[in-house]
Amino acid sequence: MTSLDPAALLDQPPLGAAELVELEALAARILRTTHDVVVLQAEAILALEAIARSVAARGRRALNIVTGPYGRIFGDWLEQSGAEVTTLAVEFDHVVTVEQVAHVIERSRPDIVAVVQAEAATGGTNPVAEIAALARQAGALVVVDAVAAVGAEPVATDTWGLDIVAIGPQKGLAGPAGVSAVSISEQAWAAIESNPAAPRVSSLSLLDWRDEWLRTDRTAIPGTPSVLETRAFTAAARRVLGEGLPAVQDRHRRAAAAAVAGARALGLEPWQADSAGYAPVVTTLRAPDGAPADAVLGGILSRGNGPLRNQLLRVNHTGRAAALEPVLDAVAGLGTLLAADGTRIASAQDAAREAWQR
Ligand SMILES: *Cc1c(COP(=O)(O)O)cnc(C)c1O
Repeated sequence: MTSLDPAALLDQPPLGAAELVELEALAARILRTTHDVVVLQAEAILALEAIARSVAARGRRALNIVTGPYGRIFGDWLEQSGAEVTTLAVEFDHVVTVEQVAHVIERSRPDIVAVVQAEAATGGTNPVAEIAALARQAGALVVVDAVAAVGAEPVATDTWGLDIVAIGPQKGLAGPAGVSAVSISEQAWAAIESNPAAPRVSSLSLLDWRDEWLRTDRTAIPGTPSVLETRAFTAAARRVLGEGLPAVQDRHRRAAAAAVAGARALGLEPWQADSAGYAPVVTTLRAPDGAPADAVLGGILSRGNGPLRNQLLRVNHTGRAAALEPVLDAVAGLGTLLAADGTRIASAQDAAREAWQR
């Protein structure tokens, strides 16, 4: 247990309005957007529910792309909110192709296209720039869950034409869970405002934040903000922007390449079927036959979650762990799991080092 000065946790001054304004600006820089950014006082999963319930309405058609568990939940919320949902789902060891999305957009003529950019649970990343271009051509709003993508790979909100993007600090930005951010275009605001079922007077209300904060002089924060998490998100955003987003993304890319190379040298196979879909945030591997199911994993190595528990292993080279040393430790851990000898482990680590350098 790390021992923290209790005063750092307990005796902080209240959050100033200027601090929230600064965090919104930092999040906008990270998202590369001039759109409004709403900071929600809750974990990203609540932000995603707020988005789904704000845009979905009876009489609206949504295309929901499902390549992992988060996309599936998002579709449930869209349906509960009355939208007519077309689901494009693939096996969780695949991501979607642009051709698949083009075909379903043509057939279903959606008003909304929702996609998870990167799925930490499956280690897959979808071609969001191309999907967004197709969706916009069809006149649909583009909604992106970039929680696991941000920091690990580019999220170019304005360049790609993304209407709504959700992020949280707890993955590639190396911050805490507990506060999240959502960017919202003018078109998206119009779609939310014209939805009679969009939440109001609710923790799920984006409109409340717009009307009671963004469109005010921003001197009085509505409600009681989480002081610690909001300040920690700001610290994480400053640290990432201080290092430079491209440098942070480059660490994730190298870490993923090193993890794949080390795992392959040990005879393990990536979980994702196609290398184009490997996510820089987490590397997933097919769980080896014969590896003890109760094997102790540690450091940045973990099992899959839920139904993927026995099917895949995760190398969580995420945030500060997007570095060579943690990946080398993970490669050694994988070698131990496979009962590989020291020479084999050392050469797998060499393969990882070499891939890191490229
Ligand atoms: C981690 C993650 C989230 C956020 O989930 P939390 O439970 O709030 O951490 C949302 N979407 C994706 C794709 C994620 O990987």
